[in-house]
This record gives sequence, C-alpha cells and structure tokens, in this order.
Amino acid sequence: MVRDRGSETELVVNELYASVQGEGTRAGQPCMFVRLTGCGLRCRWCDTAYAFYEGQRRPLDEVVSEVLASGIEFVLLTGGEPLEQPGCLNLAKALCDAGRTVAVETGGHVDTSALDPRVTRILDVKCPGSKMAKRNRPEELDSLRATDEVKFVVADRADFDFAREVIARHGLAERGCALLFSPVHGELEPAELATWLLEDPLPSARLNLQLHKLIWPRAERGV
Ligand code: SF4
Repeated sequence: MVRDRGSETELVVNELYASVQGEGTRAGQPCMFVRLTGCGLRCRWCDTAYAFYEGQRRPLDEVVSEVLASGIEFVLLTGGEPLEQPGCLNLAKALCDAGRTVAVETGGHVDTSALDPRVTRILDVKCPGSKMAKRNRPEELDSLRATDEVKFVVADRADFDFAREVIARHGLAERGCALLFSPVHGELEPAELATWLLEDPLPSARLNLQLHKLIWPRAERGV
C-alpha cells in the first residue's frame, strides 16, 4: 500500500482529540493529541497499528487552529511516527510560536535535528523484544537534552538489561533526561519491572504505566 506523507503545508491526520496525557512526566495533564498517519517500523507490541495508513489530509493551518481553539496548553504530536511527515516540523514550530508546550513522541529511527529546540522529544528506544532494535539511531540518543524523555518498552529481563546498557553507554542519567520504563501489556507484570528498578535505582528512572488504559480500559482510540 502506498503511503501518503502529506507535505510541508498539509498533514495526514489519523486522530485529533483532547484527553489526559497517559504517560511520562506529564501523566495526568490535559493534552491535545495530534496523531499523524504512518510509521516505517513494525514493533511487535504496537498498539496504534490503525495509524499506519488511516488518515485524512488536512491543511496545517487548520490543524493549528483546532488545537488552539481547545484552550489546552499542552500538545503531543504522536503517531505512527509523526516525524516521517515533512509537515510535522512546521506544525511543532507553529504551536510553539503560539505559546503551547509541545512534545513529540518519536521511535528513534528518524532524524530529529531540525525539530524546534523548544519541543520536548519523547524518544522511544526500541528494545530487542520489539524486533526493531536495529533501527535505533545512536546519534539521536547522543543529542538528547535534560528536557527530553527516553522511554523503554520492556517485554522481559533481556529488554531491561538492554535499556540499562543504553542508558550507561549514552550517559542518559547524567544528562538528566527522564528515563521511563513501561512493561509490555500482557507480557511483563508492572510489579516485576518495579522490582528490577529498585534493585539498582537511577535518579531519573520511573515506572511508566499508561494511565489512559486504566481510566478507559475498553477504548482503543481517542484516549
Ligand atoms: S514506532 Fe510506534 S507506531 Fe511505529 S510500529 Fe513502533 S510502536 Fe507502532
């Protein structure tokens, strides 16, 4: 299937909705979600496969207006992989210029260097259990700042050990990035992951549960 990546001025939007941020350092905060269509990865546990192809082309200005009209201060650009669309950089900049706090969730396989520096990157490092670890870009990890967040979705102990090795190799704890550890739903108990985190605690590490799945357990979209 041929995928539409939009353009500098048009986005292919899968979903645009208001909810609470379910993860990371802003968990629980009201948030406008802009989910862009398409992703070049195929993580084994992906829960947004509906965003691989489904979406509608919309003018960038129209998306910005809808986000601003919500009155919600925090905006998350997600996917899919939002940065695979050329218009995503312009969307992020326009929202920052309008005074919004903006974060981008990215899979770590795309170049983020052109992203507006006001944007928080939430970099989803691929562990071996995802079957996508070979797509991680080391240069992305080396470019992270203290305002960025790093997420590891962990299926088993091998993934956890991989995550700790990545953190050490790239000095992520020393750089002050939030280090988020999420258990793969149905494969790893949160309590087991918590135990591993407590064995050798890192200052900026935290167990990362998906709040929206606790609040709306039967909803697969729009939360
Ligand atoms: S990077 Fe995200 S959207 Fe893409 S396959 Fe992996 S989990 Fe799914």
